[in-house]
Amino acid sequence: MLEKQQYPSWHALLTEAYHHGISNMVPEHLEEALKDIAENTRRSLLMSSEPDGPPRLKPSSGLICQGQAALMLEAVAEGRTIDGGEPNRVTYALGHYHHALVYAALESALPADAVKLVFEEEKQLADELPWWPEKGTPGFSHRGFIDITLELLDPEWLAPGMPRRLVADVKTKAGRSMQYGGAIHNCAEDVFGNAGQVAVYSEIQGTLDAGGIIININKEAPALPEGRIGISYIRPDDLKEARDNVQRRLEKARAGEFLPELWLRRDEMKSTGRSKLFVPCNQVRGAEVGVTYCDVSDECAKRREGWAV
Ligand code: SF4
Repeated sequence: MLEKQQYPSWHALLTEAYHHGISNMVPEHLEEALKDIAENTRRSLLMSSEPDGPPRLKPSSGLICQGQAALMLEAVAEGRTIDGGEPNRVTYALGHYHHALVYAALESALPADAVKLVFEEEKQLADELPWWPEKGTPGFSHRGFIDITLELLDPEWLAPGMPRRLVADVKTKAGRSMQYGGAIHNCAEDVFGNAGQVAVYSEIQGTLDAGGIIININKEAPALPEGRIGISYIRPDDLKEARDNVQRRLEKARAGEFLPELWLRRDEMKSTGRSKLFVPCNQVRGAEVGVTYCDVSDECAKRREGWAV
């Protein structure tokens, strides 16, 4: 376990706890992690290549952009599936692997009377959020899982003024992407919806005023500890903005309004000289075929044909 001391921030405490826990794993927590890893690796590698029906929006998927949400709901209305290509099974398995290790590391490092950790808490979204479509609404998932809810039980572990309870989400990232994450997560550049996801779960937990946390884990496992984990804090104002964005996208998309937000944002950034912003859309930066992290990017590109931007 970590020695008791007053850490200046959640960022400092969690970073230290992760490193300490990985190097001093408590066998029972490791065994728990190994069970999760085995089960989730099996599930990821044996998952079907075929979409199992029309898409479903949830806090972690389909709501990073109003255009994405609108096109997905159109597919739902027409009973279409969306072919996202052959799933990257290893990426799914690796994500579960890192989640399990983060949980085991934090449990191994943080005394139970210092910080209460709740992992993978399941929530019924329509029961928790007044604006989430009611259960049974086609196109929407109704279950959500909160990666981690952190609660400081012993105030001597953190500097005064630090939030006592907040939500954290674990993300597995490429080394290059780790360079873009900072200690403060900027809502304007939240192109993968990470802040939006934390925001929705923070609303459910009643912790929007505390801010939220993204725990980024480098899947390339670099030699130097500094590059292995990057923790970003989302300030309360950014978190509330992210939450409002998710609700707006959901409502506008349900009303049939297509707006390729991220594509437009990239152009806006270009015009202000900040063209390095990566967006998950296809045909990035004029390339004929670019990298895409959006399953409806082809459809979106067709809709945009003839647009001036
Ligand atoms: S391609 Fe980009 S702008 Fe279009 S729906 Fe996908 S994320 Fe949004």
